[in-house]
Amino acid sequence: MRLCVIGDPVGHSLSPRIHRRFMEACGTAGSYETVTVTLETLADFVAQGRRGVWDGCNVTMPLKEYILPLLDAVEPWTAACGAVNTVCFRDGRAVGYNTDGPGVVESLRLRGFAPSGQAALVLGAGGAAKAAALALAQAGCRVTVCARTMEQAAVLATRCGGTASPWAELPRAAAACGLLLNATPLGMAGSPEFESLDFVQALPPEAMVYDLVYHPTDTRLLRAAEGRGLTAVGGLALLVQQAALAFAHFSGTMPDADLCRSILRELEDEAAE
Ligand code: NAP
Repeated sequence: MRLCVIGDPVGHSLSPRIHRRFMEACGTAGSYETVTVTLETLADFVAQGRRGVWDGCNVTMPLKEYILPLLDAVEPWTAACGAVNTVCFRDGRAVGYNTDGPGVVESLRLRGFAPSGQAALVLGAGGAAKAAALALAQAGCRVTVCARTMEQAAVLATRCGGTASPWAELPRAAAACGLLLNATPLGMAGSPEFESLDFVQALPPEAMVYDLVYHPTDTRLLRAAEGRGLTAVGGLALLVQQAALAFAHFSGTMPDADLCRSILRELEDEAAE
């Protein structure tokens, strides 16, 4: 099986490392490479895949939305997200999937979060927020979207049958949620920090905080949540889980939860060094 991750820049991607571990553990022969693909070379890459050069690829920035119209089919859930992070090439056809949304839900389940009936507050209304909010709604959460651009929050909230909250009312929205998920770049290396983390104090005592940012792994948001004794989950959990679901599309074998946990621990330990 010949697999790769495509994007630009892509050299920093942890996907080769994670997928090679899956291949080794699942006895899948083949390779997983890193390929720089730009918007200009994307159609050529897809054509290569259709010709059988590749069996599958993961897709990262800035290609996730642009690759969608170049594919032969996408599952309905992926079409709703409007973004693709996994492509399988089979019998001359390119089929796209989005494993970010299901990855959010599955990684939360692995941390003991039962989504059905929970109130989920999603911060942001971009690509990751869209996948997370739609998947959480599908899993039975009541979703509130809180974003600085209220129009985008409202559009996403409508699509997941939830409500939108203005950014300025984040503490009020936080007081009513069982899960707070940060899908903005706030707290990421090279991006601004949250102006205030006071909203963490407003969270109910049983709330869980999921920060999709994974560089750094110990964000100020996660530290504030831990400081309050809340369960805090960092973005590496999604990175590993969305990869496991992508690998299942490529190979037909879902890497087991213990393997995912062990890769996650390894990445977290390294980041902490
Ligand atoms: P995106 O499509 O650019 O969306 C970013 C969202 O954050 C938008 O709603 C944007 O609002 C909002 N935002 C940006 N700067 C803000 C600020 N200063 N204050 C308030 N809101 C702000 O990005 P994305 O692809 O969804 O990624 C979002 C985050 O998730 C990134 O940190 C990314 O690394 C992380 N992520 C992690 C994983 C993982 O595997 N762990 C996977 C995907 C994404 P405007 O529209 O108003 O700008």
